[in-house]
Amino acid sequence: MATNGAANGAANGSSPGIGGDAYPIVDHTFDVVVVGAGGAGLRATVGCSQAGLRTACISKVFPTRSHTVAAQGGISASLGNMGEDNWQWHMYDTVKGSDWLGDQDAIEYLVRNAPAAVYELEHWGVPFSRTEEGKIYQRPFGGMTTHFGKGTAQRTCAAADRTGHAILHTLYGQAVRAQTNFFIEYFAIDLIMDEEGRCRGVICIDMATGEIHRFRAAMTILATGGYGRAYFSATSAHTCTGDGNAMVLRAGLPLEDMEFVQFHPTGIYGSGCLITEGSRGEGGYLTNSEGERFMERYAPSAKDLASRDVVSRSMTMEIRAGRGVGKDKDHIHLHLDHLDPKILHERLPGISESAKIFAGVDVTKEPIPVIPTVHYNMGGIQTNFHGEVVTLSGSNPDHIVPGLMAIGEAACVSVHGANRLGSNSLIDLVVFGRAAGLRCAEIVEKNGRLPELPKNSAEMSLGRLDKARNAKGGTPTAMLRDKMQRTMQNNCAVFRTGEVLEEGRGLIHKVHDAASDVKITDRSLVWNTDLLETLEFDNLIGQAVVTMESAANRKESRGAHAREDFPDRNDKEWMKHTLAWLGDTGGVTIDYRPVHTYTMSNEIQYIEPKARVY
Ligand SMILES: Cc1cc2nc3c(=O)[nH]c(=O)nc-3n(C[C@H](O)[C@H](O)[C@H](O)COP(=O)(O)OP(=O)(O)OC[C@H]3O[C@@H](n4cnc5c(N)ncnc54)[C@H](O)[C@@H]3O)c2cc1C
Repeated sequence: MATNGAANGAANGSSPGIGGDAYPIVDHTFDVVVVGAGGAGLRATVGCSQAGLRTACISKVFPTRSHTVAAQGGISASLGNMGEDNWQWHMYDTVKGSDWLGDQDAIEYLVRNAPAAVYELEHWGVPFSRTEEGKIYQRPFGGMTTHFGKGTAQRTCAAADRTGHAILHTLYGQAVRAQTNFFIEYFAIDLIMDEEGRCRGVICIDMATGEIHRFRAAMTILATGGYGRAYFSATSAHTCTGDGNAMVLRAGLPLEDMEFVQFHPTGIYGSGCLITEGSRGEGGYLTNSEGERFMERYAPSAKDLASRDVVSRSMTMEIRAGRGVGKDKDHIHLHLDHLDPKILHERLPGISESAKIFAGVDVTKEPIPVIPTVHYNMGGIQTNFHGEVVTLSGSNPDHIVPGLMAIGEAACVSVHGANRLGSNSLIDLVVFGRAAGLRCAEIVEKNGRLPELPKNSAEMSLGRLDKARNAKGGTPTAMLRDKMQRTMQNNCAVFRTGEVLEEGRGLIHKVHDAASDVKITDRSLVWNTDLLETLEFDNLIGQAVVTMESAANRKESRGAHAREDFPDRNDKEWMKHTLAWLGDTGGVTIDYRPVHTYTMSNEIQYIEPKARVY
């Protein structure tokens, strides 16, 4: 389905197709092509459209079904509506939350632009929850403090527990208003890269018709979200397969900090469905099989609101010590039953519903069974704070890849470093989505003439497509995916040791190799979910391999990457970002780049590393 003046395409090209089929190609030319219509993609789309650039937005799901719609708890910005607050405190918390792996110039850019980005959303129509005086309501969230760690901040703006839903619908409305050309239910297969390493656009398949579309653009922006589905238990949607990350790997570029995978402490046991941290922000607490509020032992001052890695690890330690709840003693209880039902109804209506549906629990009477569940990928495509993709080139760690940007969860700016604070992702989407739009307005010529595409521009994409369509092996995609997900869950989760990771390396490479035996049952190009899931699996397995290798290589504990054999953070040797390249046969090359130990302006100084205790 294409809307808004998308009819500028014409079937004016074709490629022989590697398996012998001819694929007619519909060509399009735009100034900017955004792949992804989640919060990040839509915000960039609005910015580029408003700047008068011919902008296309491509999405494999209907925009308002993107995973951003599921964000519950809120969006951080130091508005100071509920008490004293400022961007310096937000910066300190984000740096500390990142375990000093975040780049401080980018973090400064994020927190300074956060309040304006929230007010912009308000003016565009996001129905934020309000205080008595009519200001935007803000709730406490893990790791968010005042006075540089001394007080508790109320910094997270919320539209009840449906903040992502409200933001995504508002941004979609604004994008339609700005006359964006949407290509909905189009699946991007691969980037078009030229010989000089410049990105020239993207090749897609229209899932409903099977037609191939070639988008030529001065700038391609990847906003394809995270790859939670590389794991068995994830809070993210089935569509979160990190397709953009995989395209970047295939373009011969590295992914950054992939070993840092955030586990949310409270996924509903069994389904993975998220119970927002906002529930603990509103007073919820965790207990073990002895009924003990164990977080008081692990994080005496922040307790249940310590940052996510700390809470997830504490829960896992309780379970390992035999104090888990349930028949198999393998999960933990979250209590909301002591809270005023009126507050639950007003502030957390969605989670009451989820707990009922997915755990059969009435939250006003019983605790919810929960378990740490994959929730967010700190790693991704390396960018600067304008959204431009950068890579290590010779001695330059920040070489700009022309024609390519990445934003949102797909990107690693890096503002979240080794661990993202809750409510810092939604703000990342809109601040860097906006930044990418501003950069495009600056460097992309309106209606500019684009050079001819390289002759083989569609070859790589059609080769991938052909290979998947002609997969005549013996193993269904679903079986391979299951093996990958279980390997990642068992060998690359909250607790890591050299031994566990070494075993994981062997297992994940085995799955990667077994992928050559994939079998698909249907060669059709029209609504062929088997084919699309095979392309998604191919994307996931590359990222899984890179994640495992990056984790095995980092011999320290930092943020979400906690190793029992190297329990301490080691700033001397490891305060650096991992860069990992994937070779054609699954081999991984790893290098490192320095953390930016400088700020953006001289209005705040570099925040020196210290122990991260809550
Ligand atoms: C359950 C849940 C709750 C959360 N709650 C919060 C919260 O309260 N606060 C907070 O700050 N963060 C929260 N997060 C994190 C945050 O919501 C996500 O990090 C963020 O929404 C990601 O947005 P995005 O725009 O990068 O990608 P997404 O919203 O995931 O969108 C990705 C887009 O890319 C498109 N796409 C992907 N691959 C292709 C392809 N091959 N071809 C075409 N299109 C493609 C998809 O169609 C989609 O439009 C939550 C996450 C989850 C899973």
